[in-house]
Amino acid sequence: MAYPFQLPELGYAHDALEPHIDARTMEIHHGKHHAGYTNNLNKALEGHPELHAYPADQLLRGIHSLPADIQTAVRNNGGGYVNHSLFWEIMTPGGSNAPSGDLAKAINGAFGSFDDFKTKLQGAAGGQFGSGWGWLCVDAMGRLSSFATPNQDSPLMQGFTPVLGVDVWEHAYYLNYQNRRPDYLKAWWNVVNWDVVADRYAAAKAWVHTG
Ligand code: MN
Repeated sequence: MAYPFQLPELGYAHDALEPHIDARTMEIHHGKHHAGYTNNLNKALEGHPELHAYPADQLLRGIHSLPADIQTAVRNNGGGYVNHSLFWEIMTPGGSNAPSGDLAKAINGAFGSFDDFKTKLQGAAGGQFGSGWGWLCVDAMGRLSSFATPNQDSPLMQGFTPVLGVDVWEHAYYLNYQNRRPDYLKAWWNVVNWDVVADRYAAAKAWVHTG
């Protein structure tokens, strides 16, 4: 998927994640916020045809090699484009299957237990000052780690491959949860699609091992 980038469709209805995420939030989040990042990423790249063949992930991995005049725009809007594309994909109505197999083993190895991982991510995402994201990532050595990033900063810019991410911008939860970010984070686990997270984990590991 390269320039011009398209807003990906949701794989489910706007109200499908209720009661954990309300329909109005999903409509605005996908149809306005994500669409805005998509359009602004395209605008930033418009005058740089030499970059039009690159997938958005690659533009973020190579952010420091991009022309200086578009680095900030790609960081913010390319990050917003890629982060939200992942976010819709790793959610599903009612959630799906807790981690099992290789992913479960890796989570237990890195964090102690699945519950310890959830506590770690909720702490990182809940404690992110202002806007940002909480992540589960594979590092360049194939190991799992969990941390938060500010704004739309993608872990790809730091050499990590995100396999799960949770949006903690107020636009992601304010209509339903107002200032109660911890309640949103707690409820959010109910809609995680662990099958997709496991697929993303396997792909990230394969990428590490084969270069
Ligand atoms: Mn968002």
